[in-house]
Amino acid sequence: MQVTVILFVFVAAVLGLIYIFQTVYLNDFYSSEKKSLLKNIANNVAETIALNESSDFDFEYGMSNEVCIRTVSNVDKYNNDCHCSLKDMNVDTINEIASQTIDAGGDKLFDQFVYISRRDGVRNDLYIYAKYLTVNEDVVLVMVSSMITPLDITISTIKSQYLVIVGIVIIMTLILAFLISRIILKPVKDMNSESKKLAKGQYDGSLVKTNSQEFDELNDTLIQANEDILAADTARKELIGNVSHDLRTPLTMIVGYGEMMKDIPEENNEENIDIIINEAKRLSALVDDMLMVSKLELGHLELNRKKINARTLLDNVFHQYEKYCESMNVDISLDMEEDFDFMADENRIEQVLYNFINNALNYNSKEDQKIIIGTKKNGDSYRIYVHDNGDGIAEDDKDKIWERYYKVDKEHKRPHIGSGIGLSLCRQILEVHEFNYGVDSSPGEYSEFYFDVHNI
Ligand code: ADP
Repeated sequence: MQVTVILFVFVAAVLGLIYIFQTVYLNDFYSSEKKSLLKNIANNVAETIALNESSDFDFEYGMSNEVCIRTVSNVDKYNNDCHCSLKDMNVDTINEIASQTIDAGGDKLFDQFVYISRRDGVRNDLYIYAKYLTVNEDVVLVMVSSMITPLDITISTIKSQYLVIVGIVIIMTLILAFLISRIILKPVKDMNSESKKLAKGQYDGSLVKTNSQEFDELNDTLIQANEDILAADTARKELIGNVSHDLRTPLTMIVGYGEMMKDIPEENNEENIDIIINEAKRLSALVDDMLMVSKLELGHLELNRKKINARTLLDNVFHQYEKYCESMNVDISLDMEEDFDFMADENRIEQVLYNFINNALNYNSKEDQKIIIGTKKNGDSYRIYVHDNGDGIAEDDKDKIWERYYKVDKEHKRPHIGSGIGLSLCRQILEVHEFNYGVDSSPGEYSEFYFDVHNI
């Protein structure tokens, strides 16, 4: 409705403007155009005379522009043979024009100059632009004139045409308003009501019918947004389930062991205290990782970049896991094809590697579990990777596993170190570092998680 009103106001404004310019101001525009034309021609003629070149001015300017040019001088040389309304102007009138022009400083526009022709007694209403100049001792009066044509008939013709135009424009505006409401407003309204459903969670993903590619794209975006919201919602619920599970396990252990040690004094030994401490540490790591994810998502994480040596880093990480892997019968090894230094936040990069290794331990159902932590050259950068001979990742899942809350398999073993919030944290850390990262994998055979760094 508003659009239609705006359209009508706009059309009315345009029609009003046309009316004002075509009728009320037509005379003013016409006369000012004419006057400036006369002035230009007079200046050109004066210039030609000053350069001592004679020419047929009437022919040059007069014919096409309905102007008349007459030059009068005390020497014959500058007199032109004009054939128009100024031809039979008498000497008195010419002298009068000359003296008024001299008084005005050499240039004068005569607005509404009335002159009765001596030849036929006809009254001429003229604009005359006069210029008085001296060329080497000689004086020349240049007069350029044009008839003042009454525009009353033209204006009344325009007025009657204008009425017809107004009628046609109103009909066209009505048609346009109708089309706009059909083509644009209807789909927008429909989409609006579908979006409201989306906000309430009642959107059924149905397609709004439109005739425009842009609206179809908007519609697709709406459907995609709905799918994303639903997916994020499901993932969020799953995350709450997983996080509560991950929180509950250490808490149950802490409470269980604490109570046991209280009730049975013999159980009050170092081994049990270590279990409580380790579980508390695991809890703390989980909470730290959750805070880290939210910091990264909000862009609040500041990196503490420094020079890191690849061998030192991987040796440290390897030693963290060596004993555990031995006890779990997992063959873990280091394969440093290349040694190099690079700039990064050491704690964050360790976190990434821990996540990669925890996943390598978790997602492997084979008896002879193998993990290789290593480096190799990759084009003009160096690659740090964690390779396992585990379950692998299906092609379709390779991109999705880096998304927040995404899990291929909902059941997983508890990680040894870290929280299990996992790859989304890795992705964010690697993106903040601007490192290239990814995974190569073949389902049932292997996975290799990596990131690439530049030597410094
Ligand atoms: P989580 O381990 O808590 O499920 P991650 O973000 O670490 O979360 O991993 C996302 C998913 O990627 C996992 O659920 C798993 O299916 C898959 N994945 C990660 N690492 C591996 C791996 N080394 N081998 C096979 N699948 C993996």
